[in-house]
Amino acid sequence: MTAVDDARTLLSSLTDAPAVGVWSAPGRANLIGEHTDYNEGFVFPFAIAQRTAAAVAIRSDDVIRVTSTFSSDSVEVSLSELDARIAAGGLDWAGYPLGVAWALLREAPDADPRGVDIALASDVPVGAGLSSSAAIEGAVASALNDVWNAGLDKVALARVGRIAENDAVGAPTGIMDQMASMLGVADAATFLDCRTLETRSVALGFAEAGLSILVVDTLVEHAHSTGGYRERREACERGAAAFGVPSLRDLTVDDLPRAEEILDEVTFRRVRHIITENQRVLDTVAALDADGPSAIGDLLVASHVSMRDDFEISVPELDLAVETALASGALGARMTGGGFGGAAIALISTDLVPAATEAVLSAFAASGFRRPNIFTVTPSEGARRDV
Ligand code: ADP
Ligand code: MG
Repeated sequence: MTAVDDARTLLSSLTDAPAVGVWSAPGRANLIGEHTDYNEGFVFPFAIAQRTAAAVAIRSDDVIRVTSTFSSDSVEVSLSELDARIAAGGLDWAGYPLGVAWALLREAPDADPRGVDIALASDVPVGAGLSSSAAIEGAVASALNDVWNAGLDKVALARVGRIAENDAVGAPTGIMDQMASMLGVADAATFLDCRTLETRSVALGFAEAGLSILVVDTLVEHAHSTGGYRERREACERGAAAFGVPSLRDLTVDDLPRAEEILDEVTFRRVRHIITENQRVLDTVAALDADGPSAIGDLLVASHVSMRDDFEISVPELDLAVETALASGALGARMTGGGFGGAAIALISTDLVPAATEAVLSAFAASGFRRPNIFTVTPSEGARRDV
């Protein structure tokens, strides 16, 4: 059963009204470009095959009812109370779909809101760094955009998801996840300029080259992740302020010698990561265009080294995953996500995936680390109407 089927089944257990449609949106993985988003730089994520689906039926009243295979309770809010319920908070998981409804009405004042039942089902693992949050936002935003005739385009719907997550759920995230989920194309990644929100779909060619992306989810969740993230953001702000520029996006590798002169040693290394990572994203896109996917491995490795040594956000489990994947024949590998735990990705020949998986499992066992969760992800199509 796919998430689309599961959402329809859940909807029919909730109401006798027929589904007017089913919409879905995927999770995402970030190929390269880490901590560059809040520095107004470049990121390069792709939508994955795992999706969240939203099946919708029309109601005769003005209530929005949301239910999910993820939770046993359904939550009901009337449209007239939506503002107050969002402001009051405490909606837990329902804050995502109801927050999207609220944000959509803010962004599309001419929409025609009506009561709906929304049933959600997903095969995106939650909290595994694959952005199940962007998937649920993208599915609900796409559904309500059609059902309420809101007329927003995909970029505007990505913005709706971000507003929901920032202002309704209260999670201070960037827009990368939502853009990746909305705009994904099969076997392509989405280059995103986080300053201008300009995007470009770039062919990856993994399928033709027989390459896979292997994910090693270390299941490590570090207690430092919040404080560490804040410290890194502050270091970036300090670096930009020292140069008198709005963000590190305004600096290039040519500014590195001057940065080393005027910044303290730690701030310099933080800044160097961002500047070189932005360049690596541009180089990755150029390498794909010119030479195809086998040309990007070294850039992935350089990204990992920069996060490990300059930004200092890796952990021994992530380093071991990267080293073992490379020793198993991966073309490139790096930690992905915010750091201090989470997942690493490896670009590897599909033939080598079973052996690399075994090698990583053995290496983790030998080091006394928790058994990681290892799987492949496939660059896939973004948000869509399925039925
Ligand atoms: P992730 O890295 O997976 O995006 P987040 O913490 O950002 O992790 O988002 C996960 C949260 O999103 C869940 O705890 C839940 O509140 C909500 N969520 C995600 N998918 C679903 C779903 N299918 N049904 C209900 N809530 C969901
Ligand atoms: Mg998330």
